[in-house]
Amino acid sequence: MLIVMKPQATEGDIRGVCEKIEALGYRAHPMPGAQRTAIGITGNQGALEAAEFESLAGVAEAIRVSKPYKLVSREVKNEDSLIRVGTGENAVTIGGRELTVIAGPCAIESREQAFAAAERVRRAGARLFRGGAFKPRTSPYSFQGLGKAGLEILAEVRREFGLAIVTETIDPENCDLVEQYADVLQIGARNMQNFSLLKRAGRSSKPVLLKRGMSATLEEFLMAAEYILSEGNYHVILCERGVRTFADHTRNTLDLSVIPAVKRLSHLPIIVDPSHGTGQRDKVTPLARAAVAVGADGLMIEVHPQPERALSDGCQSLYPDQFEALMEQVSAIAAVVGRTTAKSLPIFD
Ligand code: PEP
Ligand code: MN
Repeated sequence: MLIVMKPQATEGDIRGVCEKIEALGYRAHPMPGAQRTAIGITGNQGALEAAEFESLAGVAEAIRVSKPYKLVSREVKNEDSLIRVGTGENAVTIGGRELTVIAGPCAIESREQAFAAAERVRRAGARLFRGGAFKPRTSPYSFQGLGKAGLEILAEVRREFGLAIVTETIDPENCDLVEQYADVLQIGARNMQNFSLLKRAGRSSKPVLLKRGMSATLEEFLMAAEYILSEGNYHVILCERGVRTFADHTRNTLDLSVIPAVKRLSHLPIIVDPSHGTGQRDKVTPLARAAVAVGADGLMIEVHPQPERALSDGCQSLYPDQFEALMEQVSAIAAVVGRTTAKSLPIFD
């Protein structure tokens, strides 16, 4: 159920409704909007009585939410969510008019590799740096990431280059460590339905980038996000990264139709990862352009200073020059669809 407050409702009225909800043993999720605050209720098993809430001070109406997901739904919050990431000079807002580009290598391999990538992606206009320190690999014999040493390198990248850091957390215990370093916690495709990880991320103070599972329907994707919001973390960015189909000319099939579908149902921002979506370097830029054209809020792009030497995902990683070209092309498309891109930031002397 959703409690819609009157535009003139006071802080005290909102608190009163939340207290009533909590006293009944449920969880209250106040969602401030431009016109009025709405309060989502979760934790109830059966249907709730609207009249019980409509009599409270400041309440306009109590309405039933028809979708299985509640807090991620536009029924509960119609305005697009803006997710603020990083602090100080690293601060970025995701979901507004400006497109957000996250770029960097698949995995952090060394300080030299990370710095070389960061210098180039920043110069080309990326505002966030990506790179896994903990890698969920299909084979136990493949490079698993540098672990804590990789996180330390990411912290240095943030300091040196003024880029906010996106990095993956692979299980709830690992989250305790990763959240101390990351500006955004990434939950990978393989973990989209790791419910204990979703709940743990829902109790983090850091925003979460949730990647779509490789065979997840839209409803399953939104339900996974709902797990995070239901624990009180409303700062979720969705990421389409391709799904598995019969098509074998690419690694995955990038489902760009999910962008307008998500936009219709949810207020959460959604970005596109054409690197994992295609698995092939030459297809990354065309699909990045297409993603912006269909209304994605940003892109996640794998860039490596020497892709042929990468320890993971080299075939889909762009050379820095290619990333620069991608940024120029994407800026041209952005202008057509009423979006902007970050101006290149001057690099440190
Ligand atoms: C990644 O971003 O490097 C990654 C492992 O992505 P996904 O979870 O989408 O496969
Ligand atoms: Mn990768």
